[in-house]
Amino acid sequence: MAIATINPATGETIQTFEPLNDVEIDAKLDLANRAFESYRQTSFQKRSHWLEKAADILEQDKAEFAKLMTLEMGKPLKAAIGEVEKCATVCRYYAEHAPGFLADVPVKTDASHSFVRYQPLGAILAVMPWNFPFWQVFRFAAPALMAGNVGLLKHASNVPQCALAIEEIIHRAGFPEGVFQTLLIGAAKVADLMADDRIKAATLTGSEPAGISLAIAAGKQIKKTVLELGGSDPFIVLASADLEAAVVTATTARMLNNGQSCIAAKRFIVAEAIADKFEKLLLDKFEALKVGDPMQPDTDIGPLATPGIVQDLHQQVQTATKSGGKILIGGHPLSDRPGNFYPPTIIIDIPPDTPIAKEEFFGPVAMLFRVPDIDAAIKLANDTPFGLGASAWTTDDQERHRLIEEIQAGSVFINGMVKSDPRLPFGGIKRSGYGRELSIQGIHEFVNVKTVWVK
Ligand code: NDP
Repeated sequence: MAIATINPATGETIQTFEPLNDVEIDAKLDLANRAFESYRQTSFQKRSHWLEKAADILEQDKAEFAKLMTLEMGKPLKAAIGEVEKCATVCRYYAEHAPGFLADVPVKTDASHSFVRYQPLGAILAVMPWNFPFWQVFRFAAPALMAGNVGLLKHASNVPQCALAIEEIIHRAGFPEGVFQTLLIGAAKVADLMADDRIKAATLTGSEPAGISLAIAAGKQIKKTVLELGGSDPFIVLASADLEAAVVTATTARMLNNGQSCIAAKRFIVAEAIADKFEKLLLDKFEALKVGDPMQPDTDIGPLATPGIVQDLHQQVQTATKSGGKILIGGHPLSDRPGNFYPPTIIIDIPPDTPIAKEEFFGPVAMLFRVPDIDAAIKLANDTPFGLGASAWTTDDQERHRLIEEIQAGSVFINGMVKSDPRLPFGGIKRSGYGRELSIQGIHEFVNVKTVWVK
């Protein structure tokens, strides 16, 4: 994919970028390594100060950064502003808590003195997606930089201006030169980077094929990776649930980011007893959503990020209907305008055992399934190769207990929407990936957990 800003609302190419050549990449890796040698010696106090400054810059200039995101990948402007604010929050969170998370941990043993020390690894490569172009990067960078690592960002090729803006924010915040650099390169360069001794580990958020290829390249060099891949998150509504609240949240959870979120609710699994009512209420909500120019403050759904995503999504919708699914609303790309617009879509009656029922739909498409009881709900929820998040709605204590215990996912949210929060670990199981971001677990992914034993 060319490195370019192409407005997904119009199809217009705004700016193209030359990828770095091998000499330029080499110079950046050298700079990262030199920067690490001195940066690792800096105090937590200094790192926290710089990260707080980054948070200030994000907050001050949030309108400008939000516009850049909306221009490059099409999320509604109001959501983009929220994303920038959330980046400031994660910076402040780690600025405050990282010193505690990384403090020596004394352990009583047969030594006179033994403890665990957390030390940085060096240059960490972050291969990041376009769907949350600021958030995904800051949730990596804030803990990585607080731990004393240095960051190299290979961002998605369709958000180069966001990638450069983030590098600039970190620079303006006062972090020493080379501590965080953007590499404008295509995906084909990533395997070579993993073979380079100057890169110590990597994190990737994106598709399964991308994750597999990074993990293979890293595995050949015995380098640590964290992978945050796709999801086909269930949204379970049992008969005892607060139906109104569930439907409002279901709509937000499916439509967030124009439906392009790994933790979006994708499979709605509803108890038969309330399914007619849920279906009707969800249809009303979807009908009321405003699709249009993402720069307008009242737009709910903007364009999808690229024409390829529209094509893939529509192909999946067609496969679903061929497999027996029926479209309640939407179901075709919007051809009355330029840009990559796909309308809110609901598909019912898909046989749950067809392959398409287990796939991830990366766009504003909801699959609705009916189940007789909680046993069937849990079985269907788990019947997917993915295991990222799950949202489940009930007011019954015993049901709640079972949902928490039996759902196979990295997170379970009861009576709420799956969302990331700097205070809670985030990540998946099964084909959704491994490792965790955020919270104390996130900052411990890219450190040497050193055992120290002194007689
Ligand atoms: P990709 O996984 O292709 O892109 C994510 C990042 O990985 C980009 O920086 C991309 O670079 C890079 N990349 C792609 N292929 C490789 C590779 N072989 N080795 C190393 N890095 C690679 O996502 P797409 O944009 O193509 O989206 C396709 C699907 O992926 C979506 O429909 C969705 O299912 C899933 N996805 C999931 C996300 C999540 O949050 N979990 C986020 C984005 C996508 P480049 O842009 O240069 O190709």
